[in-house]
Amino acid sequence: MKEHNLEIIIGFDCNNNCIFCSNQSLRNLCRKKGISVISLEEIKNILKSNNSEEVDTLFLLGGEPTILKDFFKIIEFAKIKKYTNITVVTNGRMCKNMEFAKKLYKTNINLVFSVHGHIAQIHDKLTRSPESFQQLVSGMNNFKSLGHTFTTNTVINKMNYKYLPQIISFLSKYKPSLMLFSLVSPVGIPESKLQDILPPLNNLNSIVKKSVSTAKKFNQNIKFMDVPLCIMKEYEDYMHESDFKYDRKVVVKGLKDFLYLENKNENEKMKPPICLDCKKNKDCNGIWKGYRI
Ligand code: SF4
Repeated sequence: MKEHNLEIIIGFDCNNNCIFCSNQSLRNLCRKKGISVISLEEIKNILKSNNSEEVDTLFLLGGEPTILKDFFKIIEFAKIKKYTNITVVTNGRMCKNMEFAKKLYKTNINLVFSVHGHIAQIHDKLTRSPESFQQLVSGMNNFKSLGHTFTTNTVINKMNYKYLPQIISFLSKYKPSLMLFSLVSPVGIPESKLQDILPPLNNLNSIVKKSVSTAKKFNQNIKFMDVPLCIMKEYEDYMHESDFKYDRKVVVKGLKDFLYLENKNENEKMKPPICLDCKKNKDCNGIWKGYRI
């Protein structure tokens, strides 16, 4: 019986350098503890010690999973161990190479492309990596020509939040099965940078409204994640949280495995004083700590 999702951080190295990288704190902690990159054998042991029959979806996360030398071996072994639903979250840059894209296509796993802007000037500024946008677009074009559907994830932040409708319009030509927009988490971002990265929450409802209207025009499935109910207001149906069926078990080498119960991120979210009288309080996960409200 399916009981949870399993997320394995299979490495911290990345060919992007996103200003909002949520793995920064984990990566720094591991480096401080002298924990090196996880080996293929260690990943195999994690896959063996978990019961694939209890796992709904196996997420392979980074860093950037596709740059790992053992990337395809990890997928192959997960399949041998009967993990039937495998998802990889990628910045898509390696997929610019058609041979690589074809090899990935043949694995028939689920792909989530991280797309943070509709133009290079925004995406590359956020990834702090020149050409990352152009390579990602080539990768998505390759998958489109192979006929493989994928989903996308956009981290909503101060630099791109005004352009979500443009991102929807740009991505709609790929017809992703889902376009997800996730409110940036302050976890791991240095205090001095926070106000340059966190979008103003008060302006988000009008952006959600424009985004939903654009998505309807393109008949595109969109969802928002980590945007509190009081911001979503009448667009509650567009919250991704209600789609979650399973808890997340997250495995990071050297750190004790931890379980995010019902995806509430309880340690990382807060309920500020305005929540006290809120009728939605009981059903709401709250707001990322670090936001001003
Ligand atoms: S509980 Fe707080 S964060 Fe949640 S909807 Fe109410 S006011 Fe917003």
